[in-house]
Amino acid sequence: MTGNIDKPSAKTRQVMVGNVALGGTAPVVVQSMLNVPAEDAEGNLRQIEALAEAGCEVVRMAVPRKDCLHSFETVCAKSPLPVVADIHFSADIAIAAAECGAAKLRINPGNIGGLAKTDAVLDAARATGIPIRIGVNAGSLDAELAARTDLTLPEKLAESAAQYARYCEERGFTDLVLSAKAHDVMTTVRAYRLLSQRLPHIPLHIGVTEAGTQFQGIIKSASGLGILLEEGIGSTLRISLTDDPVNEIRACWTLLSALDLRRRGPEMISCPTCGRTQVNLIGLADEVEARLARVEKPLKVAVMGCVVNGPGEARDADIGVACGAGSGAVFLHGEVIRKVPEEEIVDALMEEIEKL
Ligand code: SF4
Repeated sequence: MTGNIDKPSAKTRQVMVGNVALGGTAPVVVQSMLNVPAEDAEGNLRQIEALAEAGCEVVRMAVPRKDCLHSFETVCAKSPLPVVADIHFSADIAIAAAECGAAKLRINPGNIGGLAKTDAVLDAARATGIPIRIGVNAGSLDAELAARTDLTLPEKLAESAAQYARYCEERGFTDLVLSAKAHDVMTTVRAYRLLSQRLPHIPLHIGVTEAGTQFQGIIKSASGLGILLEEGIGSTLRISLTDDPVNEIRACWTLLSALDLRRRGPEMISCPTCGRTQVNLIGLADEVEARLARVEKPLKVAVMGCVVNGPGEARDADIGVACGAGSGAVFLHGEVIRKVPEEEIVDALMEEIEKL
């Protein structure tokens, strides 16, 4: 399966998470998970605002105990984004979360208390008109399936998710999203390939779970999810980081933009610096990147270390700066429009970006 020739995600059913379409012909949806204590409604709402500003489209909130339901209800009522309830171990909490305004439920039927309990959750989701994500993780596989020696781990993950999906569909519940995550990149990739082949009609939530801190987590997630997205697998993604969830959203958009799937805000081109560099280019590039985070225009912005190669190497940039000895030349579509000293480079570049 390669490139855009065969796009399983385009063949999936479409489900609605609040007002956000997921699957079918909808663009890949960017999501994250809140990490403020569940009982702190105001704190969660502040984090949702920050995530929404960064481009998050769907947000997930853990509801670990019944006494968090009141806070969850407040968050659902006030959130500008659809809120997914993340539930483990308790069908009763899942049912109550649906009634409190969840836009989707995320459950792992393996730990929700047996299939009879799952039935009651399906009924609650049906009654409130919301979809369910069946989320299978390598760390919480059904014991019988986990013990099988005739299947690889990706096959076990896909089989587990497929079994639950079949169970739901046999009961007439088709408003489903599936995930089958592992912390190992290629296990995750192989599990999703199998799921996509076996259940091409169900939208997939893709992610590498417990991917790590920012540096490792972004590399693991981007390599695994990049493979899947290029193969047309995945209707929504989460990049899991041991970090501020806003960075998860920035990483999602950077990945989608690098794959030419979706673009939000500028893309930065910056050179790696070399012996010709005569300014603090790494500091300049970091500052430009931070200030571009508040710009929504889909521009290509170059920050280059030398005048000789700068504009030439960044010819396809809309705007940029090529630096010399303690100075910089701001260029627009390859033509120099301003020359400024080093300390004014970032301000001058941002001023010119404002005008575009
Ligand atoms: Fe070196 Fe200039 Fe290339 Fe930057 S743009 S790596 S300074 S040659």
